[in-house]
Amino acid sequence: MIDFDKMIDNHIAREHRPKAIGRYYPSEIGSCMRKVWYSYKYPLEVKPDLAKIFEVGNIMHDFVVEVLKSDKNKEVELLKSEFPLKIKGQDFLVSGRVDDLILVKESGKSWVVEVKSTKSVDFVKEADKKHLMQLQLYMHATGIHNGMVLYIDKTNLKSKVFSEKYSEEKAREIMERFGQLHQLLSQNLLPVAEARKKEEMGWMCRYCEYCEKCEKSEA
Ligand code: SF4
Repeated sequence: MIDFDKMIDNHIAREHRPKAIGRYYPSEIGSCMRKVWYSYKYPLEVKPDLAKIFEVGNIMHDFVVEVLKSDKNKEVELLKSEFPLKIKGQDFLVSGRVDDLILVKESGKSWVVEVKSTKSVDFVKEADKKHLMQLQLYMHATGIHNGMVLYIDKTNLKSKVFSEKYSEEKAREIMERFGQLHQLLSQNLLPVAEARKKEEMGWMCRYCEYCEKCEKSEA
């Protein structure tokens, strides 16, 4: 017989490359600052179970691209998908990948689309702040000031869309946050345990691989 689980693991396994201080990613800037800091100082290999969850996200995004490209959906044109972008900070670089750029034909407006797969879209009542931060940066970098986060349910393909207007101020604050992270990493200063301090972020500690180090404030 075959071990298909193992075959999937082999197929999706990626070479582990630790992140370099000075290069940051929009998808993580909304996370607990201390956790992101640890991920640079103490990089961990992505475990097979987590790699599979990421892969499901990729598969779902491929499906969304098919829907956006479909001849049966004439109201929308997919202009670009999965395109890289870079934003220069003072002495660091933010590097990301935009999921999709679409043209809504009726209005003639282009929109940046950030796609997120979720376990149950019924529980999604508003766009996650982390996802909105990511979207703001993409709108900032592309100059396209209409954005939406599209949540798609992994179990039944139901979806919800939340639009977001570009805010120069929010984009500036997010870049400042990258700047703070860069300073703390460059000077080897441990950030405050942000998720423990902010009620709305508290849930992040339950999924944090660094909670032991964090409890001891180990730098
Ligand atoms: S345990 Fe919580 S506060 Fe500490 S690094 Fe992880 S997410 Fe942040």
